[in-house]
Amino acid sequence: MNEFSPIEKLFKTFDETADILQEGLSCTYLEALAETAENLFQEQVLQEEMDESYKKRVWKKYEEMKLADYPKEDIRKAYQLAILKGMKENVQPNHQMTPDSIGLFISYLMGKFMKAEEFSVLDPAVGTGNLLMTVMNQLSDRSIAGVGVEIDDLLLKLAYAGANMMEQSVQLYNQDSLEPLFIDPADAVVCDLPVGYYPNDVRAADYELKAEEGHSYAHHLFIEQSMIHTKPGGYLFFLIPNGLFDSPLAPGLHKYLQKHAHIQGVIQLPLSMFKNQQSAKSILILQKQAEDTKAPKQVFLANMPSMKNSQAVENIMAKLEKWFQESK
Ligand code: SAM
Repeated sequence: MNEFSPIEKLFKTFDETADILQEGLSCTYLEALAETAENLFQEQVLQEEMDESYKKRVWKKYEEMKLADYPKEDIRKAYQLAILKGMKENVQPNHQMTPDSIGLFISYLMGKFMKAEEFSVLDPAVGTGNLLMTVMNQLSDRSIAGVGVEIDDLLLKLAYAGANMMEQSVQLYNQDSLEPLFIDPADAVVCDLPVGYYPNDVRAADYELKAEEGHSYAHHLFIEQSMIHTKPGGYLFFLIPNGLFDSPLAPGLHKYLQKHAHIQGVIQLPLSMFKNQQSAKSILILQKQAEDTKAPKQVFLANMPSMKNSQAVENIMAKLEKWFQESK
C-alpha cells in the first residue's frame, strides 16, 4: 500500500532530485528544481556536465515516477510546495508566489466573465507561473493560450519548466514588462501586480499614468500596459494592494480608468489571508472599453469572508450570481 498521497509523492520526487542536482551542479535549490522539472518533462538527465554518480542517482528516482500518471493540478500543487521551500531559503519579498486560495478564486471569476470556449490570457508579471497555471488548469474545459512576461530569469525558468510538466501552452518572455511588448492583444489579463516605484523615469514618461514628479508607481504602469495589450471588450483581473485608490496618485488612476475601462468589481480579500493589514489585497476586475460595451449598472463591491466560513463564502457567491443576472 502506498503511504503517500499523489501530491506528496510528486513533491518527494521534486524535492529529493532537486537536492541531488543542487549538490551535483553546485547551484541553488530553486535552480536545481527548474532543472529537475525539465528533466522530468524530457524524460532524460539533461545536465551533461554533471558527474555520472549524480546522474545515476536522479535517474533512479525519475524511474519510480511518471508525470503522465498525475493530474495537472497535483503537479502544480506539488511544484508549488517545492518552490515555496526554495523561496524560504532565499527570501525575496517582491517575488512571492500568488497563493492558491487567491488563484482559485480568480479562476472562478474568470470562468464567469469569459464566455468564449477559446481565449488568450496574458500575465505580465508571471513570476513562477503559479497564478497563470492555476487559471489554465482550473478552466481546463476551455482552450486557453497563455502568455507570460517576467523580468527575473530564474522565476521565468521555473514557470517554463512548470508549464511543460503541466503540458500547458504558454509563450514566455524574459523582459521588463513596462518596455514595449511584442505580443498580440489578449482576450484577458490576470496579474498579481508588483507594487512599488518603477525606477526607469524615461520609460515611465511614455505612460499616461506617469507621476508628474519623481518615480511613477510600477503598479499603475502595469495596469496601463495591461490595458494596452488587451483587446477592446476584454477583461482584466488584478490583485491590487487595498490602498490602491487612496494613494496620492490615485486621482490620476481614477481618471484613466474612467476614460478607458468599465470597473466591474472590487472584492476585498479576507485580512486573515495576509501577514498584516499593509500587505492585504483586493481583486479589481476591469473591462476595456469598446464601441459595444457599457458600464455595469452597479460595480460589484464585496468583502470576502474567511474561506473557512463556508456559509459566508456561499452568500458572496450568491450575491455575485445575482449581480451577473442584473448587471451583465
Ligand atoms: N503571480 C506570480 C506567481 O504566481 O508566481 C507572482 C507575481 S509577483 C507578486 C510579481 C512579479 O512581478 C515578480 O515575479 C517580479 O519579479 C515581477 N516583476 C516586477 N517588476 C517587473 C517588471 N518591470 N517586468 C516584469 N516583471 C516584473
